[in-house]
Amino acid sequence: MDFTISEKMKTVLGMINEFVDKELIPLEPEFVTTDFKDMLPVLEEKRRMVRQMELWGPNHPKELGGMGLTMLEHGLVSEALGRTPLGHYVFGCQAPDAGNIEILHLHGTPEQKEKFLKPLVAGKIRSCFSMTEVDMPGSNPVMLESTAVKDGTDYIINGHKWYTTAADGAKFTICMAITNPDAPTYLQASMIIVPTDTPGYNLVRNIPVMGHSGSDYASHGEILFQNCRVSQKNLLGTEGHGFVIAQDRLGPGRIHHCMRWLGICKRSFDLLCKRANERIIAPGGKTLATRQTVQNWVAESAAEIQGARLLTLYAAWRIDTVGAKDARDDISIIKWVVANTMNKVVDRALQVHGGLGMTDDTIIAFFYRHERAARIYDGADEVHKTSFAMRLLRRYDEAAKKGKK
Ligand SMILES: Cc1cc2nc3c(=O)[nH]c(=O)nc-3n(C[C@H](O)[C@H](O)[C@H](O)COP(=O)(O)OP(=O)(O)OC[C@H]3O[C@@H](n4cnc5c(N)ncnc54)[C@H](O)[C@@H]3O)c2cc1C
Repeated sequence: MDFTISEKMKTVLGMINEFVDKELIPLEPEFVTTDFKDMLPVLEEKRRMVRQMELWGPNHPKELGGMGLTMLEHGLVSEALGRTPLGHYVFGCQAPDAGNIEILHLHGTPEQKEKFLKPLVAGKIRSCFSMTEVDMPGSNPVMLESTAVKDGTDYIINGHKWYTTAADGAKFTICMAITNPDAPTYLQASMIIVPTDTPGYNLVRNIPVMGHSGSDYASHGEILFQNCRVSQKNLLGTEGHGFVIAQDRLGPGRIHHCMRWLGICKRSFDLLCKRANERIIAPGGKTLATRQTVQNWVAESAAEIQGARLLTLYAAWRIDTVGAKDARDDISIIKWVVANTMNKVVDRALQVHGGLGMTDDTIIAFFYRHERAARIYDGADEVHKTSFAMRLLRRYDEAAKKGKK
């Protein structure tokens, strides 16, 4: 494998890093202390600048108006953007829209693409993804209670979802609901596009998460579908193929998340080292950097970040070369390894900053609050480890049985 990047990509990454440093990091004090929706005008102006530099939608196909980068290239972009919580939003490649764009591009009808995909890629509207339910275990997603029952040419959807990220202000959601209860378990659910102004679609609240309910893009919604009627034309892909489509969303999404987390690692590590070198903690100008505990954190963090980064780049390279299905193990591994590396590095950075680390005067407390969730969403650590271990053990078992024959 070869992770060398082209001269063009070096230029692109240079431009993005400069933009993040000059245009976005200075907005962070406002971002952590005000409502996201109050920042929309200034963020729209930054988005305009990004479009002008022709850096909009780095991961979206060129024919849709994006840059058409490969998985590996977008991974590197995602890392650069991840250094600030505003990066992905301003460059038009934020979750959950990025995942919705992928599946609409792959499975949408021409009409759905015209109505939902085009304005979404252009950043004119936002979307969300409603799968997780309040009363059912997200860790076992086939256990869904939400239903979409056919009535004439429509579906009538009923269900109670939550953690629908960015529901506040979204123009549509992609809802996962049971359409074929008698089919085999993995073929029971479908994805249905639901415009958020449909009667029966109710955003109950923005859930308070770690003390903040947030607003607009920076929020997580609880949603009640109450006899919500949408045309069967809004079915995405084949009926009963909700989980098949979900797989298309997960592989690339995982690389984007992990590289974003590595951007958070990089930023937190930079802050950790800077503080360690500057903070005098004993007479004679002795800084935190003179203490072995801090030196250990610096060495361990650097090594762990490098290990996590190589694993992620390898998984991206595998997706680009053999496809997401065959790269399943590699995709599984990075989810929990990178999430835990990030949590460790952010925690050490916070600790080195002492009381300052707990305030919103640096970005570390925001990372600490928000990124704990990385060990839960898109599959909790334990679930990924279990399914990966089971696949490994099965292979050993099969090999042993063959050996006996
Ligand atoms: C910030 C955030 C954003 C999210 N955004 C979205 C979104 O946009 N759309 C959406 O649909 N969902 C979203 N989710 C939901 C997320 O996908 C679920 O929270 C996740 O799948 C876990 O499901 P659960 O919360 O129901 O936990 P449960 O399934 O109840 O699991 C609870 C805990 O049990 C343990 N556990 C579960 N299964 C096993 C097992 N087999 N072995 C050992 N331990 C196990 C794990 O520690 C797990 O954390 C988001 C969640 C968060 C926190």
